[in-house]
This record gives sequence, C-alpha cells and structure tokens, in this order.
Amino acid sequence: MSKKVQKIDALVIGAGFSGLYQLHLLRDQLGLNTTVVETGADLGGTWYWNRYPGARCDSESHSYCYLFSEELYKEWEWSERYPQPDEIRAYLNFVAKKLDLRKDILFNTKVVSAKYEAESAKWVVTTESREIFETKYLITAIGCISSANIPNIPGLDRFKGEWYHTGQWPHDGVDFRGKRVAQIGTGSTGIQAAPVIAETAKMLTVFQRTANYSVPARNGPLNAEFKAYVKKNYAELKEIIQSTPNGHPFRISSTKVFDVSEEDRQSIYEAAWEKGGLQFRASFQDLVVNKQANDTAANFLKQKIRDTVKDQETANSLAEIDHPYAAKRPPIDTHYFETFNQQHVSLVDLRKDPIVEITESGIKTESGEKQFDVIVFATGFDAITGKFFQIDIQGAEGKTLKQAWAEGPKTYLGLQTPGFPNLFTITGPGSPSVLCNMPVPIEQHAEWIRDCIAYMEKHEFMSCDTDVESAEKWVAHVNEAAAATLLPTAKHSWYLGANVPGKPRVFMPYAGGMVRYRAICQDVVDKGYQGFVMKKRDDESSNKNTSNDFSAAGKITSPGI
Ligand code: NAP
Repeated sequence: MSKKVQKIDALVIGAGFSGLYQLHLLRDQLGLNTTVVETGADLGGTWYWNRYPGARCDSESHSYCYLFSEELYKEWEWSERYPQPDEIRAYLNFVAKKLDLRKDILFNTKVVSAKYEAESAKWVVTTESREIFETKYLITAIGCISSANIPNIPGLDRFKGEWYHTGQWPHDGVDFRGKRVAQIGTGSTGIQAAPVIAETAKMLTVFQRTANYSVPARNGPLNAEFKAYVKKNYAELKEIIQSTPNGHPFRISSTKVFDVSEEDRQSIYEAAWEKGGLQFRASFQDLVVNKQANDTAANFLKQKIRDTVKDQETANSLAEIDHPYAAKRPPIDTHYFETFNQQHVSLVDLRKDPIVEITESGIKTESGEKQFDVIVFATGFDAITGKFFQIDIQGAEGKTLKQAWAEGPKTYLGLQTPGFPNLFTITGPGSPSVLCNMPVPIEQHAEWIRDCIAYMEKHEFMSCDTDVESAEKWVAHVNEAAAATLLPTAKHSWYLGANVPGKPRVFMPYAGGMVRYRAICQDVVDKGYQGFVMKKRDDESSNKNTSNDFSAAGKITSPGI
C-alpha cells in the first residue's frame, strides 16, 4: 500500500559528493525544503560501493574535496597522496556533520520511478518501499560510474565458487587466502586490484582483453610540511584547480612534444614517471591532440612495461596496446606490472585465447579450462547513462528518458534534457564529468543549478526545460570537442559506451575542458538562460533565446583527463 505523499521543494537522488553539496546549497542558501534519497545504507556514493582491494582515488587528496569553503578545506587533513574509500567516506562524514546534512538524507531508499505531471509542474517520485514524493525540482546526483557492468559470459550461473564485481564489493571484504583467483578486466580498477589480491591469493590469473598503459601512482603518507603547504596555499591551489582544463592541482605544460629535443623529451618523461600519477599526462600540451606527439609518450610507457616484466610473452601481451596514451582513462598503479613477476601470478591474453564459458569450477578459454575458487569482475560500468535507465523516468509528454536517449544521450550542457522540465542532472552526459577531477565539475554544476533555481523562484517560473534545438547543438558541440582530441580513436572505450553490448556508440563526456565549459555555462546565464525555456503558470511566454554557438569560450585547446 502506498504511503502518504510527501510534498517537498527539491528531491536529490544520491548522497555522494554531488548530492551532499546540492542539499547544502538548496536547503541552506535558498531555504528550499530539500530531501536526499540514497540507495546505500550510508553516504559516500561511488565510495560507498567501491571497496575492492587496492581501491584508491587517483586524484590527489588535496584536490579531491570541496573547495567552496576555506574553513572546511583547512580543517580537514588528508593522510596520503591518494585517499582510500574509507578516508573519503570519513571526509564526507566530516562535511555532513559540519553542515548538519544527515537529518535530510534518507538512506536505504531506492528511487524506482519519477514521473512529471505537466498540470501541476511537479515530479512524482516513487521509491522501492512505496514512499512517494511530490517535488518541484528533481536533481540526479547518481554518479557516472555507478552501474556495474557484469559481462554476459555463458555459464556464470553454474559457477560453484564465489564471484564479485569490484563496484559492489562486500563491506566486510573478501578473504583470498589459499584461493585460486581469476580477475577479469584491466582498467583503472583491475590495475589497482591485482597487486593487492596477489598479496594473499594462492594463485592469481588476470584475464586481459585490452592492454592498458599505467603510470606509477607513487602513493605515500603526506608529511607535515606538505600538509602545512596545502593549508597555507588554499587560495592558490583553488585557483589552479579551477583554471586547468581537467581540474587537477597542476598545470598542463604549454610546451609541445616536438618543441624539445629527443633527449630533453626523454628526461621530461623520466621526471614525470618518477613523480608519478596523472600528472604524466600534463608533460606536454599536445599529448592528447596529436597522434605523433602521443606516440612518443606511448612508446616510453610501453618500454617501461618491457623493462619491468621479466617473462617475454607476458611483457608482449601487456605492452601491445592498441590505443593512444590517455585516449582511454589512464590508470595509475602501485606495482601492477611488477606483480606479473611473481610465480603465482599469470596473464591470459584474451586477444589470443578468448573466454568460451564459465564452468562449474572455473573459466574455459579456447586453449582449455582453468580452475578457480573466486572470480573478480573488474569489468567496469554501464557508465554515465546506465544508472539513469535503472529509474523509470517519464517526462512531460509521457516519453521516458530511455526513449529520449535511445540513440545516445541528448542533453543541453549535460544539465537538462528536452521534455524533462525541472530535472537537473549533475555530471550528466555532455558534462566534462569523468574527464576531470570529479569534485570540480560537481561543485560547478551544483552551484549553477542553485543559481538557476534561485532565478526561477525569484521570477516565479513554474518550470524550466530546454529545447530540442539547444540539445542538438550541444550534442554536436560535444562531438566536435571530442573530435579535436585523440579520445574517440580508442574504439573500445567506455567514454563511447563501447564496453556494453548494444549501447549506442556516442562520445558522452564533454572533452572541451572544464574552464571552457564553465565559461559557456556563464555565458548562457548572462544571456538570460539562453537555450532554456522557462514558463509561468498559464503563461506561454518564456525567456527562451535560441542559438548559442558556444564560441564565446574560444578555441578548444587542451581537453580534460
Ligand atoms: P573499465 O575502465 O571499463 O575497465 C574494465 C575492464 O574490464 C577493461 O579491461 C575491459 O576490457 C574489461 N572487460 C569488460 N568486459 C569484459 C569482458 N566481457 N571480457 C573481458 N574483459 C572485459 O572499468 P574500471 O577499471 O572499473 O574503471 C572505470 C572507471 O572508473 C575508470 O576509467 C575511472 O574513471 C574510474 N576509476 C577511478 C579510480 C580512481 O579514481 N582511482 C579507480 C578505479 C576506477 P576492454 O578494455 O577491452 O573493454
């Protein structure tokens, strides 16, 4: 039986970085009656679910946090260069406590449907336990990589051992001692997990479909001097983080690869390798836009794999990489390639020996069957759109979001979809999102949404939608931005949806960089919310303006990542 309808101003789905900040902005700054609903039993979003061995954020801790409050920034102290899920959750708990957020969050509450009622201009949102909310504003804060992709390999249902997906990891961990473990997948997650699983497993076999680059993370505890530097330089760090295309706390070099001699280039790569982390990508300005320039980095990294891995055949399989460096999300690691030098660790190159099926006791490839006690799926996510499709979202004319995005997601600025008024999507498709250090686009989106809602309330608009023309222009611009880079040349990337069979191959994140994106969003506001259609009750007039060519933000130079 349905429960009483709860009438609120704003409903936010998800209690990760986005949802928490959006709650603070709408409740504490606009005074809206705001509720956050969260499937998990606690806050954390991605970091609530991703607790696999070796899990660590690959943004540096002093940039993987909110920047809006100097007080919060200075009060929190990170312990390591890259934070683990526990520490990130502790940080989010600290923020939630400081801002008194928990009282407006409902945990263990999964949204199953959201239907827009045009007459009242309200969203009716229903949860799995039949709670119903009626809300003017609906904001998705559901993350980009939160819908686990478990491949449809025949036979999984009859496997008698244990199996896990890294994105749905048991909270009390998995004991690998004495176990023969298969790990499928060598993306950012698999590259982090394998060395840690190998520490305790009796045997680890890594199944690799696509070989991947990786740069050492060089993780370690932060010393007192660095901690003091971070506190002292909040303003400067914030300025750097918010003025680089990818939102990281370092600038991308303005030097191009062929501006320096071969010898100098190698020294620059060596220094970046020693420093470690995603900063390797910032060694030169043109690494992600010029294939020949990229080849120099790719060759350097492939040689590092060959120098590290002792077994020739394994080294070849790991180093035969089919895409430019950073055209897929570049992993960073702690002793990943070294792990293959251990006696009990081996690699199966699925390009040469594909999986046929999973059996009762293991995995059968074309060359034969291997026995396993545990299978770990580090097989990624139905990224960016997958989570949306788990909710039955129905817009103004009864069209579902699934129908609206059947040929690929179509949004305006990644923030709104035509026909879905008052639905705002934090880091939705078409946002810079995953090509950036995530808290940066999250803060910008949440603040933009706050300002848009404040504008609507001030002018008594009942609804804000975008139109098909504006969304088409934005999708074209997202494609244009991607085409200016090497990113779409990685044909098997999840940026393109290529990891999920049947998913439309459309480049989903905005590759024009965060700075450019921020300028475009501001320009849209300055022009009276250009491309948005705001309506008053019984009033067909709106503040719609058309035709934004996004040129105000200038030429696309260096993308995110
Ligand atoms: P991913 O990058 O999509 O990697 C999935 C891996 O599984 C790939 O090697 C993929 O091979 C393989 N795979 C998928 N289906 C398969 C199948 N049917 N058979 C064999 N292999 C299969 O996923 P992820 O590693 O979980 O990373 C996703 C994203 O999460 C990252 O790119 C990053 O944005 C984020 N992440 C961040 C961190 C961090 O901050 N430290 C850590 C982990 C993840 P193909 O390449 O051939 O498809």
